[in-house]
Amino acid sequence: MTLMKAAVVHDFGKPLELQEVPKPEPGSGEVVVKIETSGLCHTDIHAAHGDWPVKPKLPLIPGHEGVGLIESLGPGVTELTGLREGDRVALPWLGSACGYCEACLTGWETLCEKQLNTGYFIDGSYAEYAKANANFVGRVPPEIDPLDAAPLTCAGVTTYKALKVSGARPAQLVAIFGIGGLGHLALQYARVFGAHTVAVDIVDEKLQLARELGADYTVNAKTEDPVQAIKALGGADVAIGVAVAPKAFEQAYASLRRGGRLVFVALPADNFVQLPIFETVLNGLQIFGSIVGTRIDLTEVFDLHKAGRTRVIREVRRLDQVNEAFEEVETGRAKARLVFDLR
Ligand code: NAD
Ligand code: ZN
Ligand code: ZN
Repeated sequence: MTLMKAAVVHDFGKPLELQEVPKPEPGSGEVVVKIETSGLCHTDIHAAHGDWPVKPKLPLIPGHEGVGLIESLGPGVTELTGLREGDRVALPWLGSACGYCEACLTGWETLCEKQLNTGYFIDGSYAEYAKANANFVGRVPPEIDPLDAAPLTCAGVTTYKALKVSGARPAQLVAIFGIGGLGHLALQYARVFGAHTVAVDIVDEKLQLARELGADYTVNAKTEDPVQAIKALGGADVAIGVAVAPKAFEQAYASLRRGGRLVFVALPADNFVQLPIFETVLNGLQIFGSIVGTRIDLTEVFDLHKAGRTRVIREVRRLDQVNEAFEEVETGRAKARLVFDLR
């Protein structure tokens, strides 16, 4: 049995353990990928804490922003998918879906009830190698730096999809609540969609970054009421909730103009918000939930990046810094995305 290094969650809320575990072997329809880079999504922290109503498997190797080179393939993979040894692929949250249900057949594979999620129900990319269903890996164009490709694999595809779902149009005002890993890309997609943008966070450095990325307005919700500030701009046509705080969802809701649309994306441990019925009805407001994106969405995300339409802001860490890295993200000290470099 060959061994590999991995960061493993054994108990919720305890530090991850760096240890040697068996290296995976590809089964039929699967690939084993030598991981080059793996982004740290806040979801990995929720998984390690057991924050959500549905718990992940334990022990767990987290990571669903994995990028690497195919090292070995199970029987039938090349015939079916064209993938070959050495191809660079991305391992997203949607590890597999059934392919036959109504969701899968209508382009909503992200809603498949039989889906398996990478770094949650199946082991992910906080490891030297990871195994994946060959039908659900993304192809990373050779022009894209693996350090950029990793955050695009979740933070990118998720916020790109959220903007699609929101129906944001040119010259509308889109408010992004939370300029972290997801938010800094949400802001850029809002601009790709032609919208004016307002960025809200509680950390000044994040708002400085938002301005560098072209935000038209910024609000520090610690020192200024974002609802008043956005209402003063006429109210938001669209608000995207990517801050890990229910309060930010309530503020995002209250900042909408009539006919406005709020997209729930972040998944704070504290699972509930209080929103008024009367104002929702009278103002004709719409609220959506949006979960990651499909394989086609990911292809489009890579395509936009290749064309120079997005910038991934990230800092590199080693996998053995995983516990410190979690703390950096939790306390808002991390620059937009932290990416583990395993090369
Ligand atoms: P992150 O920690 O990088 O970013 C969160 C940002 O929110 C930080 O910049 C932080 O300063 C800011 N923030 C915190 N409290 C705030 C407040 N009250 N008002 C405004 N800003 C505030 O996290 P991330 O990796 O971008 O993930 C964000 C959330 O999205 C997580 O809950 C994650 O699990 C979830 N997520 C959802 C999906 C999906 O498909 N729906 C996909 C990926 C991640
Ligand atoms: Zn994620
Ligand atoms: Zn399905």
